[in-house]
Amino acid sequence: MNSQFLLSCKKQLGETKPCEHGEEELLQRLFSIYRLNGYVHSSLCRSAAGLPNFNVLLPMCGVFGVFNSKTPAEDTFYGLYSLQHRGQEAAGIVVADYNKVKKKTLFKQHKGMGLVSEVFRDETMFDNLGGYAAIGHNRYSTTGSSKSISNIQPFSLTYRSGSLAIAHNGNLTNSRALRRELTELGVIFQASSDTEIIPHLAARSREKEPLHQIYEALLQVQGAYSIVILANNQLIAARDPYGFRPLALGKKVDPLTGELAYIVASETCAFDIIQAEYIRDIEPGEILLIDHLAVTNEKPTSLFLPPSKRKARCIFEYVYFARPDSYIFKYSVDKVRRNLGKNLARESNIVHQPGEKELTVVSVPDSSNTAALGFVRESLKMERPARFEHGLIRNHYVGRTFIQPGIHSRDIKVRSKYNIVRGVLQGRPIILIDDSIVRGTTAKMLIKLIREADPTSINLHISSPPITNPCFYGMDFPTKRQLLTHMFDNLDNDMEEIEKIREYIGVDSLKYLSMQGLMNSVPAFEHEEGSYCTACFSGDYPIQVSDVTTDKEEYD
Ligand code: SF4
Repeated sequence: MNSQFLLSCKKQLGETKPCEHGEEELLQRLFSIYRLNGYVHSSLCRSAAGLPNFNVLLPMCGVFGVFNSKTPAEDTFYGLYSLQHRGQEAAGIVVADYNKVKKKTLFKQHKGMGLVSEVFRDETMFDNLGGYAAIGHNRYSTTGSSKSISNIQPFSLTYRSGSLAIAHNGNLTNSRALRRELTELGVIFQASSDTEIIPHLAARSREKEPLHQIYEALLQVQGAYSIVILANNQLIAARDPYGFRPLALGKKVDPLTGELAYIVASETCAFDIIQAEYIRDIEPGEILLIDHLAVTNEKPTSLFLPPSKRKARCIFEYVYFARPDSYIFKYSVDKVRRNLGKNLARESNIVHQPGEKELTVVSVPDSSNTAALGFVRESLKMERPARFEHGLIRNHYVGRTFIQPGIHSRDIKVRSKYNIVRGVLQGRPIILIDDSIVRGTTAKMLIKLIREADPTSINLHISSPPITNPCFYGMDFPTKRQLLTHMFDNLDNDMEEIEKIREYIGVDSLKYLSMQGLMNSVPAFEHEEGSYCTACFSGDYPIQVSDVTTDKEEYD
């Protein structure tokens, strides 16, 4: 538990006396007061519940869709399996199956709390699901309680035009207003997540075709969305006009029948696992329709929403969220992360001292591995002796349900996830590469752990600028108050703030990548006024956020 954070919370609550309660009791008090004030946040809940909270930034859902497959449920299972990093709370699949007796497509579904492998542990369920098309979702809640099974996606409903199922990645920024309006009109919501608003809006449309109903619905929503929809016997995929979240189109040819299947996924790693081929991205503002005609003609059709003034691809997808083996926003994540490392090396002011052992570059696994490789390569080009070493080992089996009986300290939580390789750290100057610092508590504990190996120095290099603002577009960020930078934002200048952060984390030096370095690392999109959202670093929010909240459980 971050004592500075507790102090700052106490200050906000007007409590100035030293705490006479145990940490756990204090947490519970803070938790209840925060809840009353509408500041409840999942990470605070997890801390209060004594659950591990290693991934201080958590990605926010993965979506997958397939059309014209002999095995849509299996394809979706494997797609979701490779998108597991985007959400671990729950998973679900809805299948479109043609019912010969009723002579129409009916939906079948299976959903549950937990990892994909836990939710779909019974192989026989795939025989029952059958079908020719499917959509799937990995959930990490950014609106709606993480514990409520009614929030597990895809959501399905039947309405006058048939059946509709939807899976969504992102956050709507006008969901409060829309929900209020719809509720006043008598609409009953089953879930507390913002996603359900879209099918309700579509169902109220006077248009006949689901594609046009969805078009009308999307004209009314604002914010970040990459969605996949099953509408009777059609698969529809759409991306918001700003293009916040990635969404890619792929295809696969059945080796036995030669039949073509189309696939849509948040990241291309979901294509690789089922040996599908990447075709292109779903463009910002595009609503893509895939049906049997599109398969026959090998040509899905598209509608486009009115364009936004600028684009706002989430730059953090490149920094941390997406898998390095994926292509997102048309470019390789691996390549961008190497660029981040290279630019960090160019900006680094670490000097190799004559007679000192070469610099040992260690990454915080796994998300910083690629940036560390880029850093070493560029350092060598600059004739600064450096070598990459696996100095930190991550235990991949620490899962969502990991418990630490009897011990609730952050120390054991960090030790459960990481361990040091003493031999490669001892007596050496270390450059530790991490992708970001959010609250700073994990970084602080990691440094304490690395110090046990007795390196000559620890120089922490971050492959992104300081995080100064929360995300309202579908990433589970803490509130502004919980960010490490907020702890020192009363200081006069940035240098002083970095120095305070360095002291707090306990490293010999601290270097963040500059904003320019970040922008130089990502691909440029020509003829665009703005291509990326950088709001968590810059405070420049592409879409107005006055009516949004970080209280994801507002409607629970
Ligand atoms: S605020 Fe940050 S995390 Fe959120 S969409 Fe923008 S860049 Fe991505």
